[in-house]
Amino acid sequence: MKILSVNAGSSSLKFQLYKMPEEKVLISGLMERIGMDNSFYTIKINGEKIKKEANLENHEKAFEVLVDELKSNNVIDSLNDIKAIGHRIVQGGDYFDKSVIIDDDVLSKIEELSALAPLHNPAAVTGIKAAKEVFPNAILTAVFDTAFHQTIPEENYLYALPYNWYTDYKVRKYGAHGTSHKFVSQRMNEILKRTDTKLITCHIGNGASISAVVNGKCVNTSMGLTPNAGLIMGTRCGDIDASIIPYIMQKTNMDTKQIDNAINKESGLLAISRKSSDSRDIEDGIKNGDKNCILAQKMYVRRIVDYIAKYYVEMNGCDAICFTAGIGENSADTRRDVIKELNVLGIYLDEDANNVRGKERLISTKDSKVQCYIIPTDEELMIARDTLELIK
Ligand code: AMP
Repeated sequence: MKILSVNAGSSSLKFQLYKMPEEKVLISGLMERIGMDNSFYTIKINGEKIKKEANLENHEKAFEVLVDELKSNNVIDSLNDIKAIGHRIVQGGDYFDKSVIIDDDVLSKIEELSALAPLHNPAAVTGIKAAKEVFPNAILTAVFDTAFHQTIPEENYLYALPYNWYTDYKVRKYGAHGTSHKFVSQRMNEILKRTDTKLITCHIGNGASISAVVNGKCVNTSMGLTPNAGLIMGTRCGDIDASIIPYIMQKTNMDTKQIDNAINKESGLLAISRKSSDSRDIEDGIKNGDKNCILAQKMYVRRIVDYIAKYYVEMNGCDAICFTAGIGENSADTRRDVIKELNVLGIYLDEDANNVRGKERLISTKDSKVQCYIIPTDEELMIARDTLELIK
């Protein structure tokens, strides 16, 4: 059976076609600059990467071009070969605690939640509507980035703010990257060969979040109402004193859009390093003795360690710490810096094992009290798995 995983952005469409249940990737790729001039796409098939220009005037057209590619590469014979399409949805609010088959009610709830994810949910809705047009017989499913975090208890998801902000405006912690935290924690339990585990999953990429997972269920996560909470990120500040916002707005006459831009796009590693939001550039800077990069990395690591320590205490111990996403999987330096700070808890790094990129591997020493692992994430596969479960 063939299942398509898609992630629709406002001008992009990322896709991966799986043969299920074998979990074999048949073709993957990315359509870019949809609805703009100079649109193009890249596809990866049989280890080969091909880039092509195409007039992708909207998401429907992008799906049509994708179908042509699937047919011309003999990946499908007809549209009906694709039984289901799983869509990544950033915000499911408190409506969705698991993946669901999309009907009119689900679609209208995703639309309604656009207020909480203005950059992401409207794009997903566009993607769903386009898929419906182009694949009229496929079952469409929604896989929410927030669903895995719906098991977080009230004391961890509420903010100590006027209570009617929660009841009237839905202000609470929803978290993000849930599909990744779920994938990584499930894989970790497979490796440990048990499900009664306490895990800390660190999804550290350009966006970054940490979750505490007990017996496969999320009990806390570092992102909040929006993905700008918790860790320091590429361009996002993460946790700050909330009163900084009105203070700076008053001082500078910034409006809400400008301040939102500053805390989401001009902060984080970029602001402190004064160089780049990309951790590879920060690492280069550190090698060259750049003081700002050294400071940025110190602050970055400090915040990760704060959250690991917090969740270690909250869960009353921990069986494994997992590193994933762009930095977690690839940056040996960041993993080393983090684990060094955890020595006080009896957690120790195996330097040789850590010297690797993007490979699933145990990186802690035999006598470390908590095992540390690199677990490469695969959100697209998680979408395909959830979709398969739903249509079975
Ligand atoms: P993601 O958002 O998961 O794609 O992660 C993007 C981040 O991963 C960027 O900060 C990249 O600099 C970082 N990253 C990717 N590859 C490496 C690498 N080889 N070493 C250090 N950081 C990396």
